[in-house]
Amino acid sequence: MQLQLSTWPEIQAYLARSKAILIPIGSTEQHGPNGLLGTDALCPEIISRRAGDEAGILVGPTFNVGQAQHHMAFPGTITLRPSTMIAAMLDWAASLRRHGFERLYWLNGHGGNIATINAAFSEMYHAVTFDGAGSNKPPLRCHLRNWWELPGIMNLCRQLFPVGEGSHATPSEVSVTWFGYPDAVNSVAMSPRIAPTGPILDAEDYRRRFPDGRIGSDPSQANVAAGEKIVTASVKALIAEFQEFAAA
Ligand SMILES: [Zn+2]
Repeated sequence: MQLQLSTWPEIQAYLARSKAILIPIGSTEQHGPNGLLGTDALCPEIISRRAGDEAGILVGPTFNVGQAQHHMAFPGTITLRPSTMIAAMLDWAASLRRHGFERLYWLNGHGGNIATINAAFSEMYHAVTFDGAGSNKPPLRCHLRNWWELPGIMNLCRQLFPVGEGSHATPSEVSVTWFGYPDAVNSVAMSPRIAPTGPILDAEDYRRRFPDGRIGSDPSQANVAAGEKIVTASVKALIAEFQEFAAA
């Protein structure tokens, strides 16, 4: 069940049985020579929508632009300043809260978003507390989960790609997007086969250190079958965790 594909009476009926919503959140940034710019938003979106279909969970529109400043030397990347992202997340949450949602589960696809998402949660809780009559127990609760940290998923990715998983433009995340969008499958020879690793500084420095955008990875190993395995396991883990959060 997707919010943007629902009517308002359907959302009203959903709210009568659940106050919880699942929101995919990610980034629009370069993902190496064979990965889609939308990878970090598409991975949580693909997993969330399947979970929504299987378990009757309401899935919100994807928050698909995030903290991508250090990828800005690669064409197509779009980034938000942290203050802009926090402001936008606050308005999403305030809108949902206005309708009665009390549990916002954010499934994240981008490591660079984590600090800003947690800062946004803190702003939301402050707003609730300052609004209320002195209670510091807000009737709004947020949960952040990075999809690759759902129970069992990191191990599965390591089993599927014991060499060259790396940390950016990984074969796992590219596989997930190829499972969701098989037309995106393409064959690109990686040179060097496994990308270098190193510190992440500013955008130009990033491109000098990591000329094709990858960090430590060999995404030429990506394949649809691996993507299906990762998505299937992630959906199962997500449904269990979401339902526990919704009921708490
Ligand atoms: Zn990524």
